[in-house]
Amino acid sequence: MQTINFGIDLGTTNSLIARFNGKNVEVFKNPVGFKETLPSCVAFRGERIIVGDKAREWLVKDPLNVFSSFKRKMGTGENYFVPSNSTFYSPIELSALVLKELKNFIHTSEAIDSAVITIPASFDTMQSNATKKAGYEAGFKEVVLLQEPIAASLAFFNSANEEEATQNGKHWLVYDLGGGTFDVALVSIKENELKIVDHRGDNFLGGVDFDYSFMMEVMVPKLMAQTGLTELKEELPKQNGPYEKLFFILMLKAEEAKKELSVSSSVEVEFTFTTLSGNEHEVYFKVTDQELNACIAEKVSRSIQLIEEVLNANAMLANDVDEIIMIGGSTYIPYVRRMVEEQTGIKTNYSADPTTAVAVGAAYYAASKVKATPVVTDINVSETPTLTNPVSNLPQIKLAYNKHSKDSEEYITGMCQALQGTYFYRITRADGGYDSGFKPLQAKIGEFVLLRKNTLNAFTFKVYTEQHEELPTLQQLLDITQGLFSLSGQPLPEDICIEVDDVHNNTTRCELVFERNSILPISKTIYKEVSRTIKAKSDDQLIINVLEGNHKAHPSTNQIIGLIEINGKQLTADLIKGSDIEIKIEVSESRDVSVKANLLLIDYEVAEVFSPSEKYVSVSKLREEIKEMKNEMDVEIMKATQQEDYEKAQELHLILEKLNELYAKAMQLNEKSLSDEKYQLEEYKRKLAQSYFSNDNTSLSVKVKAEYYENRNTINYWIETFDDVPANLKTEFEQLKSNEANAMATTKSSFLVQGQLKTLNRLLNKMIFFTPTLLTSYYLHYIHLSSDHFKDPSLTKRFAEMGDKALERKNYEELRGVFNQVLANTHHAVSEVKIKGTGLG
Ligand code: ADP
Ligand code: MG
Repeated sequence: MQTINFGIDLGTTNSLIARFNGKNVEVFKNPVGFKETLPSCVAFRGERIIVGDKAREWLVKDPLNVFSSFKRKMGTGENYFVPSNSTFYSPIELSALVLKELKNFIHTSEAIDSAVITIPASFDTMQSNATKKAGYEAGFKEVVLLQEPIAASLAFFNSANEEEATQNGKHWLVYDLGGGTFDVALVSIKENELKIVDHRGDNFLGGVDFDYSFMMEVMVPKLMAQTGLTELKEELPKQNGPYEKLFFILMLKAEEAKKELSVSSSVEVEFTFTTLSGNEHEVYFKVTDQELNACIAEKVSRSIQLIEEVLNANAMLANDVDEIIMIGGSTYIPYVRRMVEEQTGIKTNYSADPTTAVAVGAAYYAASKVKATPVVTDINVSETPTLTNPVSNLPQIKLAYNKHSKDSEEYITGMCQALQGTYFYRITRADGGYDSGFKPLQAKIGEFVLLRKNTLNAFTFKVYTEQHEELPTLQQLLDITQGLFSLSGQPLPEDICIEVDDVHNNTTRCELVFERNSILPISKTIYKEVSRTIKAKSDDQLIINVLEGNHKAHPSTNQIIGLIEINGKQLTADLIKGSDIEIKIEVSESRDVSVKANLLLIDYEVAEVFSPSEKYVSVSKLREEIKEMKNEMDVEIMKATQQEDYEKAQELHLILEKLNELYAKAMQLNEKSLSDEKYQLEEYKRKLAQSYFSNDNTSLSVKVKAEYYENRNTINYWIETFDDVPANLKTEFEQLKSNEANAMATTKSSFLVQGQLKTLNRLLNKMIFFTPTLLTSYYLHYIHLSSDHFKDPSLTKRFAEMGDKALERKNYEELRGVFNQVLANTHHAVSEVKIKGTGLG
C-alpha cells in the first residue's frame, strides 16, 4: 500500500509542491532560483515555452506572449491565442505546463505519478474537473482534489499546539485572499475530526483585482495628466488596442507598488514607454497607501460581507468563532488585516505561512491518502494451496482497530472462528518500520502496532500454514491515520439536483438530490415516475438532467453537470406513463458525477460518468438573460404592488436595482475584453437569480396570479390575432379586465384572485369552443395525441372521422360536439398538456 506523496497548490498567482517526509513537510524549491513559489505564468518565445519567474520577467518585453491568472478561467471555454507560435492554448493546457514545471522541483529519481491538487472551495464541478484534467495532461496518473481551506486548516492545526487545537467544539474561520480568488471557510473540530462546516467564496476577488483597480483608478489618471494621452483610460483595457503592451506593463507596476505599500506609506513609480506612433514617454509619480486602500475598500468589504454571510447562515455570532486564520498573499496588506479584525471583532491569526499553508496541508493530506492504482504485491496466486472446500476449511478472522489514533501505537484485536489446525499470523507495516513476527493464530488475538506520526500507516495482516506458507485469500489490509486530526471529508460546494416536470405549473423544477455541504463521496438512488409515455422507436425523449446550484432556483439558472437522454429510438418496448425509473447518482471525492438510470419495467439500463470541464459565457447571451430577469422582476413587482404586498415589492426592488447595475456593466462589456469581467458578471447574475428564487415566491397566490396573467395574455393575443373571436366574448373579456385591479389588489389572500382566475378560465374555454380558428386547431391537436392520453383509445378513430367531416363542411356546431366528446375521453384537462418537459414526474 502506497500513499500519494505530493501535495500541490495550483494557485492563480503562485504554485507550490510539497511532501510529507514522515516527520515534517518539505516545500520543494526551484532548482534555479531556490524559491519555493513558482509564479503561475507561462511565456512563449517561438518554439520555447518558459514557466515561472522567467516568464514573468518576459512580460515586460513581450506581454502578448505571456499568460497568467488563467486559473480564473478554468472551466470556461475561453482560449488564449499565442502569437509567437500561432496556436491557441486552453486554461487547462496552461495549467498543465505549470504542473509539469513543478515536477522539475523534485530532484529524486522516484516516479512522480500521483498528486493531491488543491482547488478553491467554491470551485464548481466544471472547474474541479478542469483542474483534474490539467493534472492528467501534466502526466499524473492519479489526481486527488482537495479544497484549499481544508488544506490550510490541516497545515494550521497540525502545527498548532495540541492544547489549543483540541478544545472540542471550537470554530475557526479560514480567510484566504490570494491573487484571484477569495474563500472563507468555517471550520470546526469535534472529537479530533476536522470539518468544514460551511464556506463562501468569490472566484473573482483577489490581488489581481486590486492591481487592476489601482492601475485604472490611481495610476492611469496620473499617467494621463503627465503624458496628455487623454484616450488612455478607455483604450488601455482593449484587446488588440493601441495600448495593449502598456496594459501589462502597468499591471506589473501596479502589483509591485501595491506590495511595497504593505511596508511603507508611499512609493515612487518610474518608467518609460513608447506609444505605437513612436512617441517615448518618461513617467514618474508617487502613490500612497491611502490611495490604494481607497480603491480596494469595496472589494475588502465584500470579503467581510461573505464572512458575515457564512456566520449568519449557520446562526453564529462573532463570539462563537475563536480566531480567523489569515492566509493568501493579499493578507499581507495592512488595510486588509485591520478591516477584517475591526469589522468582525474576531482576533486574526497569522501563524500559518500565508504563501505555503495550502501546499503544506495538501502534503499532509497526500500522505494520508492511499494510491488507487494497485500496487503489485509479491503474492503468487498460483501457489495458493488447493483446498477441497476452501471456505469451510479456512479460519475466519475479524479484525477490529481504530482507524484514527493520537497515540504512537494502536491496539489491533482479532476474533477467529472455525479454527482447525495450526496457523500463524504476521502484521507488517508497509514502510518496513514494524513487524510483529510469526504469532500463533488463536480464537482471540491482540497486537500493539507502532505508528509513524502525522501520517497514514498501512499494515498488512497475513495468515500462514504450519509450514509458514502464506494463505493469500486471508490477507487483510489495514490503515490507521496517526495525528491530531482526521478529516471528515470534503463538502459539496453547491446543491446537486435533477430537473423534473412540474406539470401543474407548466414548467420544470429542481428536485434536490444532495444538499450543499454534504460530505463527498456521496451516492443516492432515487425513484421517479415517467410522466408521459415514451413510445418505442419514436422521437420522444426522457431527459435526466443533473444540475449544480441552488435547488430552489429554476433549473435554467443552474449548471448542467450530467445529462442522459433516453430516446424512444433506443427502446424496444414502450415506456408507459407512470412506470418506475431508478436513478442512481454518485459524486466521487474528486467530483466525477456518475448517473445510472434503470427503466425497471422494460429492463433497460444506461450509465455514464461525467466530468464536464467547460462552460462558455457569451456577453450577448449574458445581456439577454439579465434583460429577461429584469422584465420578469418588473412583472413581479407590479404583481406584488397590486397585491399590496409592499414588503415583497421592496425586496424585489432591491434585486431589480442590482440587476440594473449589472445590466449597465454588461452593456459596457466588450466580447473581447481583456479583463475577466464577463465571468464575474455571469457569477453575480447566477447569485442574483438564486436569491430571487429562494425568495419563496412560490406561495399559492403568486402561482395563481402567474397563471392568471399568463392566460390573460393568451386571450389578449387571440383577440389581436384571430378576427373570428365572437364579439360578445370580447366584451366579456373587457368586463373581466375592468374587475382585475380590484381582485388583485384588495387582499393578500388568494381567494379573490382564485375567483378571478376561474372566471377567466371559463372565458378561455368558451373562446376555444366558439372561435372557429381556435376550435379547429385545438381539435386537431387533441385528436392526434398519442393513445395513452385517452380513456378509451378505440373511440378516437370514430371521433376523428366525425370531426373531419364536420370540418370539411365547416359545420362548427357539429365540430364543437365532437371536440367535447374527445375532451371527455381524455385523462387531462386542457391546461395540463402544454409543456414538453423532461418526462420525469
Ligand atoms: P494565489 O493563491 O492566488 O496563487 P497567493 O496566495 O500566492 O495567490 O497571493 C498572491 C497575491 O498576493 C498576488 O496578487 C500578490 O500581488 C499578493 N501579494 C503577495 N505579497 C504581497 C504583499 N506583501 N503585499 C500585498 N500583496 C501581496
Ligand atoms: Mg492560494
